[in-house]
Amino acid sequence: MAAQTLTEKIIARHAGRQHVEPGDNVWIDADILMTHDVCGPGTIGVFKQHFGANAKVWDREKVVIIPDHYIFTADKMANRNVDVLRQFAAEQNIKYFYDVGTPKYKGVCHIALPEEGHTRPGEVLFGTDSHTCTAGAFGEFATGIGNTDAGFVMGAGKLWVKVPSTMRFVFHGQLPPYLMAKDLILAVIGDIGCDGATYRAMEFDGDGVYALNIEERMTLCNMVIEAGGKNGVIAPDKVTLDYVNKRNAGSKPFTSLASDTGARFIFEKVYDVTKLEPVVAKPHSPDNRARVSEVKGTKLDRAYIGSCTGGKMTDFRAAARILKGKTVKIDTFIVPATSEIAQGLKNETLNGQTLEEVFLSAGAKLGEPSCAACLGGPSDTFGRLNQALSCISTTNRNFPGRMGHREARVFLASPLTVAASAITGTITDPRDCLQ
Ligand code: SF4
Repeated sequence: MAAQTLTEKIIARHAGRQHVEPGDNVWIDADILMTHDVCGPGTIGVFKQHFGANAKVWDREKVVIIPDHYIFTADKMANRNVDVLRQFAAEQNIKYFYDVGTPKYKGVCHIALPEEGHTRPGEVLFGTDSHTCTAGAFGEFATGIGNTDAGFVMGAGKLWVKVPSTMRFVFHGQLPPYLMAKDLILAVIGDIGCDGATYRAMEFDGDGVYALNIEERMTLCNMVIEAGGKNGVIAPDKVTLDYVNKRNAGSKPFTSLASDTGARFIFEKVYDVTKLEPVVAKPHSPDNRARVSEVKGTKLDRAYIGSCTGGKMTDFRAAARILKGKTVKIDTFIVPATSEIAQGLKNETLNGQTLEEVFLSAGAKLGEPSCAACLGGPSDTFGRLNQALSCISTTNRNFPGRMGHREARVFLASPLTVAASAITGTITDPRDCLQ
């Protein structure tokens, strides 16, 4: 039998086949379907329309509902969306519903899923959100789907999928202290462009990847969609298994898979991480890459550290290293992705101060766990760009209007670069701030 890539192997197993080829169309079983407050109501509508008003979801333990986008707002439509989820979860007796205003509330779905043990190697995860690809960091096939497909998965537990061909990105070397996974993925997107991986799997490999912790691997996989990728994936190692085994909801059995020796990759690029530099994506596209040294000194109005890309503990530890004992020069917004991370900011210390104290004493503003201004949201959303401001952000998209105002200019960067820039009010190289 011909050798297969990791993505092909997962799809083959879920199609009940020994082997698939890129371009094959197959039915695959879903292990998890995730939805949230923006797309959940539409998905539920499609499900009811096609399966009947009294239909039951295919498995009440495999539909995971995580309200996260427009949460801390007075906007009536946004609140109504959460009510729709609440009603549906009660009616269907959904086991994993992380409701707003309860101790179960989590925050950003892509970080909540692994924290709550819904990501496992070898599985298939569908989500009604393009950044569902984040969970590829756990060695699974994870991809975003639209409401129509999701409504079908909700009732049938399977989906018709075309097998993507796989691109391979190999990182070698020890990551220097001024670089993060965000720099690596912005470098990749800058190299291949926003459509460089359209409907392809992006597999990450090499000692430079396996030296990253699981949160940094999530950052790599999170932004494959910004290159058009169908999914991002990293074969599991001990780091992955240690994380999954601690959290695995329902202690489900799973199978770790890896690409076969001799598997065919449609494209391969090798990076030496020791030779890379901190980078930003300039307005208005994630592939508009520049080295920080090229845009150093560009004036800014605001800094934002949060989202599924840049609101994890690793991101805040990095930002705190720079902000400790300093004062920010521009409005700086800190948004933990989840309630677990928000608690982590209260518990974890850096030289005698909690991370939360580090940020507050630097003059930053601290928000509640959610997507907050990453997707703009209603006008009362924490950190939203309500004017044509220039902002440097750890988020993943900088298209016009993405964080609010259509004329705002958003620079995407690592938490180190964003924190360094917050102190000076201009785009700043973290190498100038790290001791
Ligand atoms: S944090 Fe941003 S990118 Fe992530 S799920 Fe929320 S809106 Fe989407």
